[in-house]
Amino acid sequence: MSEDKGFELRFCNSASCALAVVNTEELLPKLEKILENANLGAFYQSLGLKGKKRRCFRVAVAACPNACTQVHIADYGTIGQAVPALEGDCNTCGVCVDVCEEEAITLFEDRFPMINFEYCINCGACIRACPQDALKAESLGYKILVGGKLGRHPMLAKEVFALVSAEKAAEILDKTISFYQKHCKSGERLRVIIEKLGWDTYLAAIS
Ligand code: SF4
Ligand code: SF4
Repeated sequence: MSEDKGFELRFCNSASCALAVVNTEELLPKLEKILENANLGAFYQSLGLKGKKRRCFRVAVAACPNACTQVHIADYGTIGQAVPALEGDCNTCGVCVDVCEEEAITLFEDRFPMINFEYCINCGACIRACPQDALKAESLGYKILVGGKLGRHPMLAKEVFALVSAEKAAEILDKTISFYQKHCKSGERLRVIIEKLGWDTYLAAIS
């Protein structure tokens, strides 16, 4: 918690979590550097918010889609993603079918697993469970969500990118904070600004 710095960075420890699908130690220093350089504490002070509740830009990092760091109520959040693919010999044991909580896998003609990516949330559980090591992560990265908030008018964050690298995730945070500091005039949350200016305006600013 760094409220005196004008931001909060919540994150899970991917090194000690069996469910983690990405190593967040690669991403965290990049986000921390951007947040420190943004001088958000001084920025909020410069708005002259005396007498009002102190403001805080909230960032949350989760190493898997269980999102235990409450990414959906953060101004900016990342969720680790592991996109599964069959890359080895399958013995049709059906373990992946049983372990998938999203019911995204079926055994095609009892010969090999088929993944329905409309249901798959890239949690990596099937990859971990496959006894043949036949399922691999075809891609690893982060989903990016923006604009979550609680308070008097709570709103869940919206997905703005489905899968990006750690470098890109950091770049999006940097551009998001620049957008925020340009348009925040009275300590309002990022989502309030985006709703006022329009999502297209925000997306153009971070592209
Ligand atoms: S990654 Fe998760 S949601 Fe997707 S198919 Fe595997 S177990 Fe199911
Ligand atoms: S768990 Fe592995 S070996 Fe078993 S059906 Fe799924 S992909 Fe095939």
